[in-house]
Amino acid sequence: MSKIPHILIIYTGGTIGMMKDYKTNVLRSFDFKHIYNSIPELNHLDCSLETISFEQPIDSSNINPSHWDSIATTIQSHYHKADGFVVLHGSDTMSYTASAISFMIENLDKPIIFTGSQLPIGDLRTDAKENMITAIEIAAAQKNGKPRIAEVCIYFEYKLYRANRTTKISAAQFQAFDSPNYPILAESGVELKFHEHTLLPLKSSKELIFRKILPQNVLLIKLFPGITEAVLHHMFQMPELKGVILETYGSGNAPTEQWFLEILRNTLKKGIPIVDITQCFAGSVVLGKYETSLELLEMGLIDGKDITTEAAVTKLMYLFSIPEIGGRIKDLFETSLRGEIGNT
Ligand code: ASP
Repeated sequence: MSKIPHILIIYTGGTIGMMKDYKTNVLRSFDFKHIYNSIPELNHLDCSLETISFEQPIDSSNINPSHWDSIATTIQSHYHKADGFVVLHGSDTMSYTASAISFMIENLDKPIIFTGSQLPIGDLRTDAKENMITAIEIAAAQKNGKPRIAEVCIYFEYKLYRANRTTKISAAQFQAFDSPNYPILAESGVELKFHEHTLLPLKSSKELIFRKILPQNVLLIKLFPGITEAVLHHMFQMPELKGVILETYGSGNAPTEQWFLEILRNTLKKGIPIVDITQCFAGSVVLGKYETSLELLEMGLIDGKDITTEAAVTKLMYLFSIPEIGGRIKDLFETSLRGEIGNT
């Protein structure tokens, strides 16, 4: 008889494990074992489960790179005995954490499925139960003895997404996430349907590498009509600034005023890369399509193409965390490392 898959569940916090303090009406994290008790169905799944909880479960607004490191280190230390991983995480910053983890692990050949919920597990109408049970089933799914999924994903409200393509779209709907520029990887209906052609291929013969993301002085700036020279000048002058992500308009367009272009030029001259990403929900930067992006192309901004803000921020931090990358930031940023960016 073949052995049943072994799944490690890592509980970091978030609504999924929260309880209402009825005195203050505020949601607070509580002990992970309550989640287990609240879903007795977990005992009937066709896989064995092991659970590890952050000592202090947190609201995901408090997540930082040290927590990404704790998640990655836990996965690394259990990598050989677990067949798949489920990470329970608050939805607010889930796309950032899951994108970060996707970059931190190279040549992944097992599933890492992030999930959470919009309503606490104790709530009658909770979405936590379905999200968690199906996330575990996906992490345990195999075909010919090999995992169906070999990448970092988010499972939420019947859909499986490539994590570094997602963004949180709603604080009110059960469908909290979307993947505007990449199709969904699987759907849960009466059956679990995997869309094979959308999945990253298994790389089991390649060496598995775990890397850290260290805190980096990167700046995320969203342009708006009327943004002043004084504000931008001040931001770009920050002494320890390492890199900038600029959320531009439409297909990567920005003002053509000389003071604006001069700030960008001076920043690039100092060796500080600037990434051009679009503030549109869907679609891609196409540098040089309009006059308002031609100069940006010519001065050497990094083309963020169709990357999400979450993946752009974590990818830039990741690249800065690898000293040997040196001057190859632009090349590597514009190349797909984990399926996070389109090829055009
Ligand atoms: N504030 C919560 C968090 O992100 C929301 C959630 O879990 O969905 O931790």
